[in-house]
Amino acid sequence: MGLFSKEPCVICDNKVGFLSRKRLVNKEGYICKECEKKCSEFINVGHFTKAEIEEHIKYMEKQNKLYHEAFEPIDKKHINRFVSISTGLEFANEIAMFRVVSPKAKKKEYQELFRYDQINHYEPYYKENTNSNSDKKYAEVGLTIHLNCSRRGFGEAEGSVTGVGARNFHPYVKELQIPTARNVNDFSHVGLKDYLDKLFGTYEDTSVVGSIKSSFVGTNKQRSEMKVAAEGLKALGNLAKSKITKSEADSENAKESMETLKNDALDFATGNRATYSKIANEVEDRILNS
Ligand SMILES: [Zn+2]
Repeated sequence: MGLFSKEPCVICDNKVGFLSRKRLVNKEGYICKECEKKCSEFINVGHFTKAEIEEHIKYMEKQNKLYHEAFEPIDKKHINRFVSISTGLEFANEIAMFRVVSPKAKKKEYQELFRYDQINHYEPYYKENTNSNSDKKYAEVGLTIHLNCSRRGFGEAEGSVTGVGARNFHPYVKELQIPTARNVNDFSHVGLKDYLDKLFGTYEDTSVVGSIKSSFVGTNKQRSEMKVAAEGLKALGNLAKSKITKSEADSENAKESMETLKNDALDFATGNRATYSKIANEVEDRILNS
């Protein structure tokens, strides 16, 4: 059991030396470099048990299938890409999922996707410049994206797990830090934050053209409110009609309007996440359950 002795990997059983392995939590054994490539770049294998690693690798196999069958076939024109300093995000609205592009991801055996509805909130981050040779204020700026996460952090109390099994909770990742610029004086998000604001309905165009436009057609929020109100009136109308005519078609219409109303109201309350959940669930069901 010396430092230079070879130890078996708990996953593949290959005997590996000190430099090619990592120790699992609770001294449960070691995982080799090759098996670690099957894990997400966003987890620390040292915080996982053997059983958790096995479960995680199964999760990554599914993610890889989703990536190759749902994300990869999408026409590049429909992928919204925000990549600077070789790291960034690619959004695919038609499946309501995104992926992280990074040098680390390229070395991994499996690709993984994140769902739009897993995004809880996001905010800019800044790293002050400590290099005296640079006159720029920040060494790096970017966006921290906080995800709903069902895994408790390392060292947290037992029993604090929330959202287990809910698909809008990521099973492993709590946050993603996405750098957008280095050596700058201000927050340069290269459109990433605006894009997220648009996705979640919080974007307000502050340009002159934008404020003229919103004085005519209202802000995003006002438009969503009007849409919910209009759907509400339509649903009530259809319901009244179906009561009067007692026809099956009318009652079907009424049911449909109520569903639309419910979804619009939910979207308004959740920043479009209700629709994103629906889209992502359909994609996952189609690809993973077939
Ligand atoms: Zn191994």
